[in-house]
Amino acid sequence: MDHTPEMRQGYSFRLVNIDCLRTSTDFNVVMELEESIEDLLPYLAATLPGCSYVHGSGVIDLMDTGHIVGIYPERITITSVRNSEEAALLCRTYFEKIQQVRAARESIQPVYKTRPTLTLLDILKALPRTNCGACESPTCTAFAARVFRREAPLARCPAFLENRSRHRNLLQKMASAGYAIPCDPP
Ligand code: SF4
Repeated sequence: MDHTPEMRQGYSFRLVNIDCLRTSTDFNVVMELEESIEDLLPYLAATLPGCSYVHGSGVIDLMDTGHIVGIYPERITITSVRNSEEAALLCRTYFEKIQQVRAARESIQPVYKTRPTLTLLDILKALPRTNCGACESPTCTAFAARVFRREAPLARCPAFLENRSRHRNLLQKMASAGYAIPCDPP
């Protein structure tokens, strides 16, 4: 169920329930921008530490204090938001960031390709996204975020463990980044 959009100068935002989880207290936020920021994406990518961006893909991905953020030309999506107040704060922060980058554009060296060694999306892609809850997280996305923040071991997902031989590249990346990785069976 979508909540009524809240209007602000330059953008609006709405909270979206995570439909499959009636008991979930977390929301996703969809922030609609009045003005496209397509031309600003390489400049934003230059100022967002740890983000992932490939010019032409039309999206910057990043992890921001537990939220998965997607920055598109006309909207920004933010996961794991508790309430309207937090949503308003996050949206205002990102809108101000856009304004700052727009104002300082001439002095920013644009980045057309950047990718951290290990991203949250790398972990999420290796999960089955069935949201079964066996890992004690409400969704696979929430679990991926916890693993990325080193709050939970990847081995807590039984489905991943079963198929881990398919994800050797991810396990190598995680090992080189100092994460605990599941052992092969004896
Ligand atoms: S146990 Fe695995 S499949 Fe189930 S919700 Fe957690 S990450 Fe997703």
